[in-house]
Amino acid sequence: MSKDLKERICIIGGGPAGISAAMYLEKKGYKNYTIFEKLNKIGGKSYSPKLKVGGEERSFETGAIMGAITYHAVHEVEEFAGVGHADGPNMRRMYRDSSGKEIFPFDPKKNFSLKKLFGLLKLKKQMKKLVQIMNEKYKGYDVYGHRGVAQGKYDGLSKELHNSLQLVSGENPNLKDLALPFDQFCKLNGVEEVQRIWIGPYTSFGYGYFDEIPASYVMKYLDTTTAIEFVNMRLWTWKDGTQSIYEAANKKLKNPALLNTEVVKVERPKGEKIKVTVKDKNGERVEEFDKLIVTTPLDWFAKLADASAKEKELFSKIRHEEYVDFIATFDENQGPTISGYIFDNMTVERLGHAMVYYHRWEDLGANCPCVVYALRNHLGSEDVPYDKTIEMMMEDMALCGFPVKERLYEQETYYCPHVTPEDFKAGWYDELEKIQGEHNTFFGGEIMSFGDMEDTCASSKDLVERFF
Ligand SMILES: Cc1cc2nc3c(=O)[nH]c(=O)nc-3n(C[C@H](O)[C@H](O)[C@H](O)COP(=O)(O)OP(=O)(O)OC[C@H]3O[C@@H](n4cnc5c(N)ncnc54)[C@H](O)[C@@H]3O)c2cc1C
Repeated sequence: MSKDLKERICIIGGGPAGISAAMYLEKKGYKNYTIFEKLNKIGGKSYSPKLKVGGEERSFETGAIMGAITYHAVHEVEEFAGVGHADGPNMRRMYRDSSGKEIFPFDPKKNFSLKKLFGLLKLKKQMKKLVQIMNEKYKGYDVYGHRGVAQGKYDGLSKELHNSLQLVSGENPNLKDLALPFDQFCKLNGVEEVQRIWIGPYTSFGYGYFDEIPASYVMKYLDTTTAIEFVNMRLWTWKDGTQSIYEAANKKLKNPALLNTEVVKVERPKGEKIKVTVKDKNGERVEEFDKLIVTTPLDWFAKLADASAKEKELFSKIRHEEYVDFIATFDENQGPTISGYIFDNMTVERLGHAMVYYHRWEDLGANCPCVVYALRNHLGSEDVPYDKTIEMMMEDMALCGFPVKERLYEQETYYCPHVTPEDFKAGWYDELEKIQGEHNTFFGGEIMSFGDMEDTCASSKDLVERFF
């Protein structure tokens, strides 16, 4: 099929998915695209506000923080933008129990007991086993996206190290197991212990609990290489924050995003151009396009567009996490000096409690504002009300010995869109694939693979590679 490089393309959303979609389109020679971003900033949930601390302006992270050597698509955006990740702060951490006391779950020498030693040896053995089965039994598990997984196939960009993100496909009936909730998947494979490792960068980072999330999502984000990089703290961070990647990339684009411009209506009459109504400071206007790339939540899209019955049905099945975070300040010299993972609070029973606090700047010691995080929903449990969650997070920080003086920035994000294990198994992703391109509309963003920077940028690459 010959490509029409002049066609007019609308991209909804100026987060990592939208900015990288524009970059990949440009690399293919498309110049006639427009990105609409409703906020006055680029980056979406990769948001890095600046605060003046100790007379100096520093970046903080209220959204995305880190990447790893497996962040191939993000690296392509970095290269395009001229941004590097070598100068970011370290990711040191310590662990606490629910009473705030320091614990040493992974150090056999601290609070030594034979039970602990054997537990750690078992964990190590199961980690090794998981690496082996993922590479062999579940070959193909780490390509981006979930197309075909429920049918025992893989089809997407390859996530193997040191490649150039090529599209690969193949069959592997074992992949069907990845529709199981992650806890059941671990049980099936005799590697239950590894959840103790995965839970840190998974549940405490707001991505849900292991009894509700299909293993396919967990392993998309925390493939074994990324998980091991996390354990060894070989992580990428950015001095000016993750947002700086997308801001710099946006500046390099031929058509930088139009900020403060919200898409409020989409009409796709058959045989005609797509009509996109946007609202900015001058009011509403309609613009016409040949194609549409949606990087915003699809359940929102269904409400503002002339969604088909199939789109409505599919998008109504999307769930998301309610992840709360705020920047906490402390009295002089009274804050943490290192990030803390409150392990006991990562269980469903402790829903709404603080699970992590992130201390970003080592040199600021106990005077560094920290970001505190909690999840307040779980499939099958009642949501913890927002105000109650904030109250519990404040209490947890006090228990750790760091009473919060002020909350500087507080947010709850639409986080980690996904479908249930049942809908995953029933082939939700294959149904979605069938409607890709209908009405000249293409769906990207977090739901396609996973709600992190890498998977969203890679999903944009996947879309552009396959359909443009
Ligand atoms: C607390 C937190 C911690 C995180 N930690 C990490 C991490 O360490 N590593 C990592 O890789 N990822 C992390 N993430 C996830 C990462 O930030 C997101 O997955 C990524 O930003 C998703 O990019 P996106 O473009 O798909 O969506 P978003 O970032 O949500 O961007 C969507 C954009 O669309 C805009 N928009 C929405 N509706 C409209 C409309 N109608 N019209 C126009 N514009 C619209 C929004 O304003 C937004 O800018 C974290 C996120 C949070 C919140």
